[in-house]
Amino acid sequence: MDSRGSDSSIGIAGAGPAGLASAITFARAGLRVVVHEAQREVGSRFRGDLQGLENWTSEQDVLAELDGLGLTTAFDTLACREGTVFDAGGRAYPVRSRAPLFYTVARGPGPGTLDAALLAQARGLGVEVRFNDRLATLPGRGVLAIGPRAADAIAVGYHFDTAMADGFWLICDDALAPQGYAYLLVMRGRGTVKSCMFSGFKQQRECVERTLAAFRRLAGLEMKNPRAHGGVGNFRLPASALSGRHPVAGEQAGFQDALFGFGMRLALRSGVLAARSQLEGRDYDALWREALAPLVCSSIVGRALYGLAGNGGYRWLLRSQSRGDARVFLHRLYRPSWLKRLLVPWARHQILSRRKDASCDHVDCQCVWCRCGAEAGT
Ligand SMILES: Cc1cc2nc3c(=O)[nH]c(=O)nc-3n(C[C@H](O)[C@H](O)[C@H](O)COP(=O)(O)OP(=O)(O)OC[C@H]3O[C@@H](n4cnc5c(N)ncnc54)[C@H](O)[C@@H]3O)c2cc1C
Repeated sequence: MDSRGSDSSIGIAGAGPAGLASAITFARAGLRVVVHEAQREVGSRFRGDLQGLENWTSEQDVLAELDGLGLTTAFDTLACREGTVFDAGGRAYPVRSRAPLFYTVARGPGPGTLDAALLAQARGLGVEVRFNDRLATLPGRGVLAIGPRAADAIAVGYHFDTAMADGFWLICDDALAPQGYAYLLVMRGRGTVKSCMFSGFKQQRECVERTLAAFRRLAGLEMKNPRAHGGVGNFRLPASALSGRHPVAGEQAGFQDALFGFGMRLALRSGVLAARSQLEGRDYDALWREALAPLVCSSIVGRALYGLAGNGGYRWLLRSQSRGDARVFLHRLYRPSWLKRLLVPWARHQILSRRKDASCDHVDCQCVWCRCGAEAGT
């Protein structure tokens, strides 16, 4: 029998957070599951990256939400309640919240990472994970969860070891991270420093250099054993998140926080929804439109506005958040509303037009970031 799904097993393409969340949900329902992962281990595109599991889009704590979804929380976390964000002039604004604003987590195959914990839970439930197994098609029943298909944002910089104290620092300055933000995360002797850019990708080298210089000056950045690292983020509101009969989960479907790129939570939630739609015989498109689309739309509107704000606008945002609880501030910023719903067509158009790279001459274009070819839409 063809081991790729001609039997009664469920096939999952991709062992990222979305694929493993799907696999765990199927396995908890007693089904036989095979996960096909292109790389030789989990989290290969992150390898020791530190990321923030956001905790502001719901009242409920994200770890409690994962628990309620049947997903493990047995990974290392650092609850982040206090940090510092700088404007383009180097002025510091405190970021404070009573409950954790986000949890720093480690990504990649190592011990204590989110990916390793999900893999262990999946295997504990009897899921078979086949590494070095890149699927071209997914026969039989299953879920597609193979990560981003294009670059709407990039995060580039370094991982490193450090003697710095735990914490987080951000800089909102278009010279460091055009239409995005530069960030520095430190957890238990390890750090990540990145420029998270939403345009001007061709200036990534200069942006990273400026980001390092600024964090050295403003936050005392100290890196030992730096390793260059970067990756892409892909967001859009899909017309449908079904590919043939298969639900598509995570960033492959475009489920990503368009405003700041906090995609892990949406990946996990959509992975669970994709599996539930199959288990319960329900329409996946209807499920994600109800559970995820309001948040994705809200973040798309936020992205369009943030992209217009410039350094003056960021400064206004930073001042506003520093007057109260940052988690409450961000919760309001992301909260869906009728006004945001009205602005979605305008916001999608804004984002679509920004994807065309004016600095590319399109002659034998080999540029990874340029969207001079066919455009699928937001
Ligand atoms: C540098 C960087 C920093 C980030 N920081 C944050 C952050 O701080 N907070 C946050 O919430 N999010 C962050 N994100 C986004 C977050 O990492 C993603 O949204 C999340 O990992 C998406 O999960 P996924 O399962 O959809 O895709 P992925 O994590 O990309 O997993 C997809 C998997 O599918 C595999 N695959 C691909 N093609 C095939 C194939 N044909 N067959 C089989 N397997 C295949 C890949 O190897 C991969 O393992 C960051 C992203 C980047 C790049």
